[in-house]
Amino acid sequence: MKLKYVFLILTAFLTVYSCSKDSSDGGTEEPPKINKTPNLQGTGDSANDLLANSTYTKLLIEIAYVEGFRPTARTEADVIEFLKEVTFKQDVQVIFKSLPSPKKTSLSLEEVDELEQENRTVYNTEDTIAVYIYFADAPSDTDTPNGNSATLGAVYRNTSMVIYESTVRKLANSSVLISLATAETATMHHEFGHLFGLVNLGSTMVNPHESQSQNEEGQLVGDSHCDIDGCLMNAELEFGSGMRKMLVAKNGAVPELDAECMLDLQANGGR
Ligand SMILES: [Zn+2]
Ligand SMILES: [Zn+2]
Repeated sequence: MKLKYVFLILTAFLTVYSCSKDSSDGGTEEPPKINKTPNLQGTGDSANDLLANSTYTKLLIEIAYVEGFRPTARTEADVIEFLKEVTFKQDVQVIFKSLPSPKKTSLSLEEVDELEQENRTVYNTEDTIAVYIYFADAPSDTDTPNGNSATLGAVYRNTSMVIYESTVRKLANSSVLISLATAETATMHHEFGHLFGLVNLGSTMVNPHESQSQNEEGQLVGDSHCDIDGCLMNAELEFGSGMRKMLVAKNGAVPELDAECMLDLQANGGR
C-alpha cells in the first residue's frame, strides 16, 4: 500500500516534470533537487558548520509542533538571541509547521525519526544550514513510571532535535518559579549545546570537563555532559527533576554555559 503511494507520487512528479520540459524550448528550469545527506550525519558532526560562518552563513530552523504544543513566542526570541550570542550566525530564521498528533502514549527516538522523515521540509542549501525541531505531545519511551528520569529533550542527528513538550509543561507547572518559556528555553539551549558538539561530542575539549556515568556493563564512561555544577550542559538538565532543581536554585533564570564549555565552542569556530 505504502509502496503504491510512493509510486503514484513519483509518477505524478515525472509527468509534471516532462510537461514542463515539453512546453519550453531549451531553457527549462529544473525543480530544485533536495540533497538530504548533509542533514543525515551524526550528532555533533555539524558543530563547526553551526558555530562558524565558513561553510554556511545562515541558519534556518523548522519547528514542527503537534497542534496545541507550540513553544511560546518568548522562547523563540530567547533561543534566537542565544544562537546569535554563541555562534557567528546573525541571520537566524524560524519557520513553524503544525502537525496532527501521532496519537502515541510515548515516543521512541526511532518513531521521532520516522516522523521527521515524513514531515521535515528544510534541508541545507548553498549558504544555509537547516535544523529540524519536533515538539512532541508524548513523553520519551525511556521515561520511568516514577518520573525521576523524565527526559525533556534529545538530539539524534547533526541537525535534528526533539523536545518532549508535554514533559516540559509538567516541569513548568511544578513550581511558581518556573515559567513555561524558561523551561522550554533552558531545554532548547541544552540540546543546541549537543548539536554544537558539547561535551566531547564533536567539539574537542580544550580542558577535560566531561562528566561520567555508568554504562550498561557498569563501567564509568564519558556521557557528553559537563562536570561543572550549574553549567547549562550539566547532565542533570536532561531530566525534569534535575532541571527543576537547577531552575529553582537559580530563581527561575536559564542556566548558562560555563567557561569550559565556552572555550570548547570558541575552539571549534564559535563566538
Ligand atoms: Zn544532554
Ligand atoms: Zn560546561
